[in-house]
Formats: sequence, structure tokens, C-alpha cells
Amino acid sequence: MQKQYLLAPGPTPVPPQVLQAMALPIVHHRAPAYKEIFAEVREGLRYLFQTEQEVLVFASSGTGAMEGTIINLFSPGDKVIAVRGGKFGERWSDLGKIYGLQVIDIDVEWGQAVKVAEIAALLEREGDVKAVLMQASETSTGVMHPVREVAELTREREDTIVVVDAITGVGVFALPMDEWGLDVVVTGSQKALMLPPGLAFAALSQKAWKFNRDSTLPCYYFDFAKELKNAEKGQNAYTPAVSLIVGLREVLSMIKEETLAGVHARHARLATAMRTGIEALGLELFAPDAPSNAVTAVKAPAGIDGQDVVKTLRGMGVTIAGGQDHVKGKIFRLAHLGYAGEFDVLTALAALERALAELGYELAGRSGVSAAREIFQS
Ligand SMILES: *Cc1c(COP(=O)(O)O)cnc(C)c1O
Repeated sequence: MQKQYLLAPGPTPVPPQVLQAMALPIVHHRAPAYKEIFAEVREGLRYLFQTEQEVLVFASSGTGAMEGTIINLFSPGDKVIAVRGGKFGERWSDLGKIYGLQVIDIDVEWGQAVKVAEIAALLEREGDVKAVLMQASETSTGVMHPVREVAELTREREDTIVVVDAITGVGVFALPMDEWGLDVVVTGSQKALMLPPGLAFAALSQKAWKFNRDSTLPCYYFDFAKELKNAEKGQNAYTPAVSLIVGLREVLSMIKEETLAGVHARHARLATAMRTGIEALGLELFAPDAPSNAVTAVKAPAGIDGQDVVKTLRGMGVTIAGGQDHVKGKIFRLAHLGYAGEFDVLTALAALERALAELGYELAGRSGVSAAREIFQS
């Protein structure tokens, strides 16, 4: 037997009590027992998103809620800005283009955060921009984008909204939807929400719901207005992923118990320790200026292929993520989100030290494990 460690930025490990809840016999989704569960889930999601609005739930991966956002809020020809600084930023851009939106791409160097001034200038110059589409945390590069500052720009404009893919943001760091004026917040189940893949979520501000009424693109399963009407009656429009919803209730109660502030503080502590450990090893962070607390992207040291680091770790039972596209082989990514604690970080660093030694990397600095442990002890 070889024990397996899942340290990639999604899917992430699922806590035992959540697995157990999901193993219970299926409840019928129109039965009163389900309505009770769903009512609790709806309330917990509002707490998680920090909103008074309804959080819609769909049976799909996170991308479903992204696609749903495009077809529910916009019309062909609408001008939108897409912040393209990684795989997921590209996804916004691609989705917009497929549905005939006029997408203005802001190409951001991978590993960097978008500059707010650049968005401000573009909004000024273009005039009739309907939306800024961005990530809170660009999982492919380990970058945190300045969502709050962008929302300050869109908030003053009656006809512009900010759409946030927060799939590795919600449940990792603070993104108070109502307080910051975020118009659309999207997430998925298999990252910080400690669930298997299969649920997508979207919450819309009143301003975004106005966009929904004006949209002319067709939709069927991802019909946000229909889902809202059903949710307000305590129902789902179609058969929900019942077992995942039952698991979600458990997750939301865990989050409530830890408190959202506690969840965010834990992620901040884990991320700080991971980054400290990586630098102690003499390695370089890929996104040193605006690192996300969900995942740490690390530059592969000179002479070592990042994919070999991933493969060597996999041979030890440790799953991390490599780089994608043009950074494939150049970086690797260690996750610390969701059901993650101090010893996951220490395990990741210990395994990494071993893998690098096996690959012939001379550990220039100190032990990453001791450096991270000192953060935890301080
Ligand atoms: C995981 C992820 C997605 C969605 O991916 P799915 O595979 O469709 O769940 C989108 N954006 C970000 C930032 C992600 O991390």
C-alpha cells in the first residue's frame, strides 16, 4: 500500500464527516426532508458568499456557472473586458467570444496581477463596457487579482458590472459580495468547499439581475431566473445532485463553526508557511507580488523540469499540479485550500525536499519544513 496525498488545487480532499453524510440513502428532492436540507444550505451559502442575494446551485463543474453567467447576463455584441492572465482568464474570454460578445482582452503576464489603472483606462476609453470578467484567484498561476479595487470602478458606473470567478477565492479569502459590490460571484464544489466535483454556484447582485432581464441569449438548464424562482420556493428547477447537497450542508456547518474569518485566517497562515518554506529551500515563487492564499506556484529550479517534480512526487503518492500551456515544465503548484491544515503544508514541503534531492537539486537554503514549522509556532 502507498498512502495517497491530494495536494493539487482541485479536486481537493473531502473530510470524513462529509463523505459519511454523502453515503446516506438518497432523499427524494421533492420530499419535505430535502426541503429542510436545502433551506439550511441556502442560508449557509448566503453566509459563505456574504450576501443577502440568493446563491444559485447547479449540477455541473464550475465552468457551468461561468457559461451560465455569460448566457444569462449578456447579448451578442455586448462589449466586455476579460482579464486574461492565465488558463481561467482565457476561459472567460473564450466563453464571451463563443456567444458573440465583443471581448476586449487585457493580457496580463502570467504570474502577475492585473493593474487596476489599466482597467480604469480601458473603461474610460471604451465607454460602453458592460462588464469586467475576472478571477479572484487565478489558479493556473497562483495569483490573486484586485477584485475589490475593480469593483470600486464598476460600482460607480450604472451600466457596468464586475463578474468574479471566485472558484479558488470563496472559502479561501475575504470576498464580501454585498459590501464590496461584486455583481456576480461564481464558485464550484471541488476546491475550497471540500466536496467532490459536481456543484457550481452563482450569486447575482440586483444590478446583475437587471442585466439578466435585458439579455437576449437563449438558455435552458442554466436559466438563472428560473432557478431563482424555484429557490425562493425552497426548490430546485431540476433534479439536484442530492448527495452533494447533503455533503454541502455538512461543509457549511463546518465553516460556520470555524467562522468565515477563521477559515480565511487558516488559509492565510497555511499560505504564509508554504511560501516561507519554499523560499527557505532556495526556490522562487512564480507570483511573489500578489500571491493567492489558495495555491502556491513555484518556479522549477534551473536544470529541473517542473513536470519531473510532479511525476517524482506522484511516485511517492503525493499529487500536486504542474504548469499549463507555456509555463508547463517551468512551474509546479502546491495547494493549501479547503480541508487543509498545518501538517498538509509540512507534508508537501517534506515530500518536495525529497523529490528535489532525487532529481539532483542541491538544497541551497535551509529546510523548508523547519522554516514553515517556525511560522506555525510563532
Ligand atoms: C477550477 C477552476 C475553474 C472551474 O473549473 P471546473 O473544472 O469547470 O470546475 C474555474 N476557475 C478557476 C479559477 C478554477 O480554479
